[in-house]
Amino acid sequence: MKRIAVLTSGGDAPLMNAALRAVVRKAIYNGLDVYGIMYGYAGLLKKEIKKMELGSVGDIIHRGGTKLYTARCQEFLQPEVRAKAVEILKEYAIEGLIVIGGDGSYRGALELTKLGMPGIGIPATIDNDVLGTEFSIGFDTALNTVIEAIDKIRDTAMSHERTYVIEVMGRDCGDIAQWAGVAGGAETVLVPEKPIDINATIERIKRGHERGKKHSIIIVSEGVGNAVEIGRQIKDICGYDTRVTILGHVQRGGSPTATDRVLASRFGSRAVELLCEGKFGHTVGIIKNEIVDMEFENALKMKKLSNSSLAELCDELAI
Ligand code: ATP
Repeated sequence: MKRIAVLTSGGDAPLMNAALRAVVRKAIYNGLDVYGIMYGYAGLLKKEIKKMELGSVGDIIHRGGTKLYTARCQEFLQPEVRAKAVEILKEYAIEGLIVIGGDGSYRGALELTKLGMPGIGIPATIDNDVLGTEFSIGFDTALNTVIEAIDKIRDTAMSHERTYVIEVMGRDCGDIAQWAGVAGGAETVLVPEKPIDINATIERIKRGHERGKKHSIIIVSEGVGNAVEIGRQIKDICGYDTRVTILGHVQRGGSPTATDRVLASRFGSRAVELLCEGKFGHTVGIIKNEIVDMEFENALKMKKLSNSSLAELCDELAI
């Protein structure tokens, strides 16, 4: 393999730059030419492709967002459009493509692999919902942003003796909420993986009040539903002063944590190695602290790897 390309696709995550840097540097270290494709699959179709040099990825390891920009591309679901994409890559003499993104981006890379353009996937999303890995890059950074916000909200919750409902991102995956619940000392965490029991939540808040704790933190994952409505129900039933904070897109940006930067660097490096070893159509991931790889088909068939014992721990500690 002499020439590869890299793109970032789907929703952004604060670590895409660090992974991009690792791919470019590792490729050049191994004597490969490396091209960056702007705006994901959409940019590929428009031939927004440029050669990357060592300096192209300088000063980005600490920056959120993605220097290559990211996009979604509905057209890519059509087989003839993907065939055109392969033609374009071949026109540039590109022999392998590293895709930094989520499950949808993996599906695109899998289809390209089937058409003879080897793809490798690097899991990047704050939601931590990518299959075939315990952790995606961006998750730790988003989690730390959430914890910083919870700590600040806790100060004001305590001063005013208020109950705060804090909505965090995650789509259908409750990992940000669950981890933030443990790290932020929340009374209750509501996640989409478990049926919501509003009465149990209220009982828990009331128990706290009875033992003199007049402020509470309830974390609601966005996939659960309407945090404002949950706050209203708590206020109506308990009569406690209740406020709702929706953290929103602040969770998607910011300077990445050291843990995430190291993970992104390990993933980027391994992705290039896989192409060099001729292991095509694979994802990289981390399981039990080991960097692993598996075929896209196997990763996409897997159940989400999750740490369900955290839910129990959160309940036990918030007794
Ligand atoms: P996020 O975590 O933000 O959802 P993602 O990679 O899962 O990231 P998607 O929007 O699902 O984001 O997918 C990104 C792009 O991948 C799509 O816009 C499309 O171009 C391509 N893609 C998704 N699914 C497929 C598929 N089944 N076949 C081919 N390409 C696909």
